[in-house]
Amino acid sequence: MSVQFVSVKCPECGALLNIEEGRSQAFCSYCGTKILVHNDNEKIYRHIDEAGIKQAETDRIIRLRQMELEEKAREEEMKAKTFKFKMGLIIGAIGVLMMVVGYMLGDATGDSDSGFYMISLIGFFPLMAGGSIITSALRNKSDKKK
Ligand SMILES: [Zn+2]
Repeated sequence: MSVQFVSVKCPECGALLNIEEGRSQAFCSYCGTKILVHNDNEKIYRHIDEAGIKQAETDRIIRLRQMELEEKAREEEMKAKTFKFKMGLIIGAIGVLMMVVGYMLGDATGDSDSGFYMISLIGFFPLMAGGSIITSALRNKSDKKK
């Protein structure tokens, strides 16, 4: 158990003394004057301390809440980025699939006028779109880090 101290100013020499809380009298360690500790003083000091502690606690809670909110916003952003990234990947994959499958089927039919080659060509657009979505998702991420 720690001992609480109360700051008291010596009425004789003005020295600031730390006196154990609960004591009603003490002697100044500088001039030896007997000092009567008033309960009023004690209360005032304690009030100041409590207000300070309360303020610090409030500040701490506010800071924590701000950090929580920032963390939440970061998480939401990461989720959105991840979703965007995945969508880009899926769209790009569809494009690649169209290109590969379209080419393979076109090759298999041996008919250069068949629509399969057309699918293969069209597949280039989702591939490009997916690529640009991924690029934008990655670029925004690094922008936010600054
Ligand atoms: Zn004194």
